[in-house]
Amino acid sequence: MTDDRRAELAEALAGVRARIDAACVAAGRAPGEVRLLPVTKTFPASDIALLAELGMTEFGENRDQEARAKAEELGALAPRLHMIGNVQRNKARSVARWASVVQTVDSPRLAEAFAKAVAAAREAGERDGPLEVLLQASIDGDPARGGSPLPELPALADRVARSEQLILRGVMTVAPRSWEPERAFAAVAEAAAKLLVDHPNGVEISAGMSQDLEAAIVHGSTLVRVGTSLLGGRRLASQ
Ligand SMILES: *Cc1c(COP(=O)(O)O)cnc(C)c1O
Repeated sequence: MTDDRRAELAEALAGVRARIDAACVAAGRAPGEVRLLPVTKTFPASDIALLAELGMTEFGENRDQEARAKAEELGALAPRLHMIGNVQRNKARSVARWASVVQTVDSPRLAEAFAKAVAAAREAGERDGPLEVLLQASIDGDPARGGSPLPELPALADRVARSEQLILRGVMTVAPRSWEPERAFAAVAEAAAKLLVDHPNGVEISAGMSQDLEAAIVHGSTLVRVGTSLLGGRRLASQ
């Protein structure tokens, strides 16, 4: 059974890589410019282990409890886990134990909570280094889905960059369903370019998922977050 799953994942991985490469070529970009982040939410830790055998080293998770359990189960494999789900401030301390990267920092108060949480986790010997941060940008400003309105990104970037516990890496976005993905990703690319002026290390643009990774790559994505096309349909209700 593990062999079947390994073969299935290997084939899906080759397919997603081929899509990324083709999209890069079509956009006039070098294929090495775009990394793939497998999104393993709702799938077992054994799938992370198989993908690690296939060469993947970083994975996206969206729930604190689920990700923490997988991190414990995987033990010494110690993959780099990205938190890609929205985080309540009172969960920052827990997320700081297992996440290498948090992609969903969208307010100065949440940045503050993570700065404190990371300091406490380091003091307690629960993590080694600072937390890498992507700012989640909301293109349409709808607070329901999370994300900072674009005009507030510069102040948020300054807040993150000021903390010794946080490292600003770039921006992340989810295209709103009602928007054409091309238009959404173009707006985020513009906001990201503005941030780079003051924060030259914030080069990462996490954009694009199974459905819209081609459009994101046209507009400068450096990290595509792919669940369904790689691991299959999610049966559990974790959106
Ligand atoms: C689930 C999820 C993904 C992956 O979505 P797919 O459509 O399954 O590729 C990407 N980004 C975020 C924030 C997610 O929650």
